[in-house]
Amino acid sequence: MFKQFVKKYNLPKYRTSQLYTQYYRNLIGSWDDLTTWSKDLREKLKKDIPFSKLIYISTNISKDGNTQKVLFKTVKGNLIESVLIKEKDRNTVCVSCMSGCPVGCIFCATGQMGLNELLDSQQILDQILYFSRELKLKNERVTNIVYMGMGEPMLNLKNVSLSIKDITDKEKMGFSKRRVTVSTSGYIQPLRQFLNMNLGVKIAISLHAPNQKLRDILMPTVSKSNSLKDLFNILDEYSNRKNKRITYEYVLLRGMNDSVENAKELANLLKDRLALVNLINYNEVDCLPFKKSKNTILFKKILEERGITCTIRKSLGEDIKGACGQLAS
Ligand code: SAH
Ligand code: SF4
Repeated sequence: MFKQFVKKYNLPKYRTSQLYTQYYRNLIGSWDDLTTWSKDLREKLKKDIPFSKLIYISTNISKDGNTQKVLFKTVKGNLIESVLIKEKDRNTVCVSCMSGCPVGCIFCATGQMGLNELLDSQQILDQILYFSRELKLKNERVTNIVYMGMGEPMLNLKNVSLSIKDITDKEKMGFSKRRVTVSTSGYIQPLRQFLNMNLGVKIAISLHAPNQKLRDILMPTVSKSNSLKDLFNILDEYSNRKNKRITYEYVLLRGMNDSVENAKELANLLKDRLALVNLINYNEVDCLPFKKSKNTILFKKILEERGITCTIRKSLGEDIKGACGQLAS
């Protein structure tokens, strides 16, 4: 969009790089901060390009101060949430790619909303830029970006991939590819397209079940039309070709998918694969019947005994409903 602007007004090319630097790197707070530009040019910019396409609504900070959830509204009036998680020297931004989500996984708060709106790439970037500007005031910066907020990235592939290109483009945000993770519930066809784009970012698969039958119950919409067998076919091909380890997310739901048997079956499923299992403690959702598991440590032990690398994701921001899957405006 900056390039089009420069072209439209017949400006010299260096204006584009000036815009990139000021907007993505120096993190100006409005077009008026572009003080090296004439007033006339700034007014044109204001007219043509919205500084942000999201309207800030409110901020919620967790008791320990480490998690900050920000509510935004789109021009169409739909609400979205983004979260900043501070952990040691990391500042991770969890972005939404939709308002709501059409996938309806039975344990997920966002899934209960249905889809309101797909976000465009600028709206995805706006969330990151918002936190980048905030952090800059404290001489800090965003260190990691995860697509784990509202929505299913593979069902908004065009905008998600455009946003990743802008984030990692050296001329623009210049963010390290290795510090960007996209989480998906596993839509095979767009996932294949996404992997073929070779964007270099990390991929996390929301597995949540060691077999097709249980996955059909927990994630019916995606699971029934995207079988585990087909999903592993493309993941194995990718992982072998790139020699890349794939992260499998597994949210532990009491009495649903957290038994010793489930752990053994999961270990069996992943034993010959380059895999990392990220166990997620369930964040309970008011209107849903699911409970946190009491078996997290045992589950991890069973996986590790069978040679599967495993981590437990710390749950952050639960008190402000800013943790994974609790995002429902
Ligand atoms: N739609 C994508 C990304 C957003 S959800 C996906 O499903 O992967 C990010 C992660 O949070 C997913 O692994 C999701 O299954 C998990 N999640 C959903 N609801 C949760 C909850 N209430 N507690 C903990 N994790 C949850
Ligand atoms: Fe959508 Fe992911 Fe929630 Fe499933 S877990 S409903 S795909 S946001």
